Amino acid sequence: MRRMYILALMSLATCLGVLGQRLPETVTPESYDLTFAPDLAKATFSGDEIIHVRLLQPSSTITLNAAELEFQSATVSASGEGQNASQSATVTLDAAKEQATLTVGKQLPAGEAEIHIRFTGTLNDKLRGFYLSRSPRRSYAVTQFESTDARRAFPCFDEPAYKAVFHITLVVDKGDTAISNGSIVSDAAGPGEDKHTLKFSPSPKMSSYLVAMLVGDFVCREGGVDGIPIRVCSLPEKKEMTAFALRASENILKYYDQYYTAKYPYKKLDHIVFPDFAAGAMENAGAITYRDSALLIDEKTASFDAKQEVASVIAHEMAHQWFGDLVTMKWWNDIWLNEGFATWMSDKPLEAWQPEWHTEQQEILGTLRALNTDSLPSVRTIRANAETPADIQALFDGIAYGKAASVLRMVEAYVGPEVFRKGVNAYLEKHAYANATAEDFWNQIAETSGKPVDKIMKSFTEQAGAPLVTVTSTCRGDTTRITLTQERYQSDAAMMDAGSNQLWTIPVELLPSATGKPSEFLLTKKKDTLELPGCSEWVYGNAGARGYYRGSYDPQTFAKLSAGVETAFTPEERLRIPGDAWALVRVGRMKIGDYLELLGRMQAESSRDVIRVMISHFPEIHDNYVSAADRPAFEKWVRDFFKPMAQKLGDTPVAGEAPERQALRADLFSVLANYGRDPELIAKARSAVAQYMSAPESMDFSFAGRALVVAAMNGDAALYDQYVAHLKTAKSPEEYGFYLRSLGAFPDKALTRRTFDLILGPEVKSQDMFMLFYPLVNYETQPAAWSLFKSDFATIKQKAGASEAPTFARVAGFFCDAGLRDDSQRFFAKQKLPGTERILKNQMDEVNACIQVRDLQQKNLSAYLLKYR
Ligand SMILES: [Zn+2]
Repeated sequence: MRRMYILALMSLATCLGVLGQRLPETVTPESYDLTFAPDLAKATFSGDEIIHVRLLQPSSTITLNAAELEFQSATVSASGEGQNASQSATVTLDAAKEQATLTVGKQLPAGEAEIHIRFTGTLNDKLRGFYLSRSPRRSYAVTQFESTDARRAFPCFDEPAYKAVFHITLVVDKGDTAISNGSIVSDAAGPGEDKHTLKFSPSPKMSSYLVAMLVGDFVCREGGVDGIPIRVCSLPEKKEMTAFALRASENILKYYDQYYTAKYPYKKLDHIVFPDFAAGAMENAGAITYRDSALLIDEKTASFDAKQEVASVIAHEMAHQWFGDLVTMKWWNDIWLNEGFATWMSDKPLEAWQPEWHTEQQEILGTLRALNTDSLPSVRTIRANAETPADIQALFDGIAYGKAASVLRMVEAYVGPEVFRKGVNAYLEKHAYANATAEDFWNQIAETSGKPVDKIMKSFTEQAGAPLVTVTSTCRGDTTRITLTQERYQSDAAMMDAGSNQLWTIPVELLPSATGKPSEFLLTKKKDTLELPGCSEWVYGNAGARGYYRGSYDPQTFAKLSAGVETAFTPEERLRIPGDAWALVRVGRMKIGDYLELLGRMQAESSRDVIRVMISHFPEIHDNYVSAADRPAFEKWVRDFFKPMAQKLGDTPVAGEAPERQALRADLFSVLANYGRDPELIAKARSAVAQYMSAPESMDFSFAGRALVVAAMNGDAALYDQYVAHLKTAKSPEEYGFYLRSLGAFPDKALTRRTFDLILGPEVKSQDMFMLFYPLVNYETQPAAWSLFKSDFATIKQKAGASEAPTFARVAGFFCDAGLRDDSQRFFAKQKLPGTERILKNQMDEVNACIQVRDLQQKNLSAYLLKYR
């Protein structure tokens, strides 16, 4: 699954098995025969299912999962000798556990049995289970089951380890079609005049959370590769925006089919996009589902970033067809085996298909984000327990995705990509159509590589946080003596200084200046020394940039590293240098002025991704760290620094230039206008917006998106009205997103009120409610937006639904102020939203980290900015 806003952080402490919700391990399903008849007009459905099960011991009860379903009848028959008579069962529902227990009069023997249940349910509007999705024209019946919502569509053994074969039949209206995991094998008229019945080919053995059913007037764009038919299916009126996704999908499948020894495991691949989707996308086996912005691309206008994002989501979901669908984690505590792998894997086909996108650089941006998340004292471990649906849902976070992917990249670099691939393939083959644990994975890679991968992986998955490796070196004659020390990096400076006894097994890749040849060292102790040939002026501690740790150097070394940056390092290594330096600024081990000087030495940088890292902390410096009195001086610093870079790129796109350059031009424009407050650029944004509104296709969308925000930050009610009007007629999901997001940038508090009303009203879909985050992160509107958030919270909760409401506890981490921190913590504690206990601790750490940087660095910043006053 791809979350829209991956929850930043979760902590260790978990309430283990509050409700003890797991099924008793006494009955296993073999296959399901499922027939559904959805009634779109009434928003209901009826279902008929036969589950072929195996009883591991004699019993007169069978417990399975069911929620919000009405049982019409239930019978059980054992297929043992003389036991063919079917017995009717009484059904006891346990709503809290989301379970149903079927009880029969006569004990069933161990062995095979058949459960037959007739049931009815509601096509809900909560975007989970079997639910109703609406376009302005009509309704659709669609599904989203991960993690624990298959049980809302049919009674089932709804845990990932209970893999079974699904035979699905859908009875739908005459003019409609249906899509499921298998292909349509028969289509017969009836029952009745207005219906037809579609039967799908049986699925391979898979977990219940991967079942998909979609009903409506979908139309599909067809293609294929390697004998696998691929379709991209959408509402008819959206078909023109599906060509890019089909092309991406074909190229991605071609890549995966040659990377894996196990070919694509399902007989066809459908990508289906429809309105109303809570996540970004979902990897249902052979039938991947998407929200509109994660799949639809208007190729005439789409920005560089939008295309990359869509391709990246498709690659992620397709990677899941192996990692997650073919081999599934035994339990949700190892969700990283799904999400970390899909995230790690998804960059490879994009690198091969579109090398100019520089996905290999972007993955290091992902590592920096993960390291940031991982620095909070309350952060959780990669492997973490979760028992209740809410706690399971909370595991889909930056640790499961970003950290796990980064650790995999480190291990891949350590054993070598070909050896890693061999190990991955052996793991997939061994556990195909079954389940696996973390140990299964790392033992396999250790065996294939003959290297202590198990120790490395264990130290990174079972411990919270990430290490900071301090590298010092001295040259003696023609050898260099290097000392490496490790400690846990924490956003809390005092905790970090107090030290921890955590130890990691770290494959450190050293790059000594004397030879320029990387050298590997496995650091297992707190402190270790080694010698390398040649007299090195400096030694860089993360050659290849794939290490999941931060590097610390003394100021002189940092100066040398950043001065020689363009010639000595790859772009991936270059973007880690300011990344590492900022980590030291956060905990007061480097002065922020020295950090800005370091950036100054990198001013000739040309890689967009390196520059994105250099820019990345300007919003927080501008909004939170610099004093109000020094802010104009800081804005001048930003102008002085970035203007030459922008001038080098030129004002307007040059024919034939790389799309990455256009995107960089937009990045620099945005930082200069927003944090340099350049009046010329603000005026330029206004005229660009006017042009964009009258002729969107005349403008580069990377630029238009930024200009809309800049104009809004300096805009009034009249401009706001124009944004709202254009929002309603937006032609692509990207354009819609531009307008909706920009509403949060208007500084006027009366407009913030209108933004809340709009997003919480009927015109904005509940899937887009996270757009409320924008006025809440905007420092000018934050206090007002927070008041509105509190007073509107009942509506927010109602519109988001029970499973998504906890996401909003993330707001508690948006502040940089003790008063708002305490107020938000009190507020959310009172709400008692399930699954938020860890989120709230993490978010408190976030706020504390921000306050700490201000306390540690504001004076340093003021001193540094003296010359810009
Ligand atoms: Zn995923």
